[in-house]
Amino acid sequence: MEWTRSTKKKLASKLKALKPFDPYHSALCTCGPKLPLNVYTGCGYECLYCYTSSYSRGRWGRDSAAWGPRADVVRHLERDITRMDADSELTGLKDLPVVLSLSSDPYPQTPRVSEAKLCLTRRCIELLAGAGFALLMQTKSDLVTRDFDVLPAEKTVVGMTITTLDRTLARKLEPYAPAPSARIEALATAAERGFATLCRIDPLVPGVNDTARQVEDLTNELAAAGVNQVVSSTFKKRRDSAARFASVSGGFPEAAASSEHLYEPNEVSGYRYIIEPERRRRMQMVKAIAESHGLEFSCCREGMPELNTRSCDGQHLLRRPAAGVFTDDRAPVTEPK
Ligand code: SF4
Repeated sequence: MEWTRSTKKKLASKLKALKPFDPYHSALCTCGPKLPLNVYTGCGYECLYCYTSSYSRGRWGRDSAAWGPRADVVRHLERDITRMDADSELTGLKDLPVVLSLSSDPYPQTPRVSEAKLCLTRRCIELLAGAGFALLMQTKSDLVTRDFDVLPAEKTVVGMTITTLDRTLARKLEPYAPAPSARIEALATAAERGFATLCRIDPLVPGVNDTARQVEDLTNELAAAGVNQVVSSTFKKRRDSAARFASVSGGFPEAAASSEHLYEPNEVSGYRYIIEPERRRRMQMVKAIAESHGLEFSCCREGMPELNTRSCDGQHLLRRPAAGVFTDDRAPVTEPK
């Protein structure tokens, strides 16, 4: 399936809840086509490094009344699914996996916005599974285990982001997300229940969670939990996340200062990347550790697709008849500078 910008725009105009995946025109993204679904607008986990913090922090912050469930998300999803059956231009989309979620977490748990109480993600999963969609779950919450009874094991990849095993460090990096140990336990439960699993060790923040020892200890736990794949990337600074990283209250000012020389001076698509040799060194390190534990490896938007052993987002783990749209998950993309 060829998705040009105008095709995506046209398809998006016909849909309400699902949208064709658009990595903001990033030339470094190696993901196959998929349909993101954000059940919530905003996020209460308040990760220091968040790439979507215009949604998840600031005016959308944990305590802000401005974020919460997307209006009519369940009804809109129902409508999209019905429309896919009726509109020949949309029919092929049912072969694509739906990813929950990319710019929010599908399992928020603040006193005001709690998926445990609202069950909106659960209702969306029921609709999607009923319509035969494959699902790529991506979360930091062990609440995903609640939905294992409605997620189709053969057509779901359970993805969890874990950046460190260290609870104290995690509290600074991801203040309101569940503990790393709970996330690892959820992955182990997923594997036991027959789900394919991946862990995003993402991002590696220089001077904070990027030593070989830290990655080795975490990967060791992941392998013991039965995880299939590790996906990793380095911390790409946006202006807001860079300010939080350097903040003396709640950030890592020393690590920010001592790693500043590692960063390109100029932004690429709104991000400052770590210089290529240092990015490569880190990705090669994670890959070697993952492979030493028998896990697949890929990196995310690093411009190094040759390091990927399989698809960068775990789509190859979906055990379903080939839909004919993910024919080459190792296809090279535009090389970075
Ligand atoms: S869980 Fe994801 S969306 Fe939520 S704050 Fe953290 S990085 Fe941002």
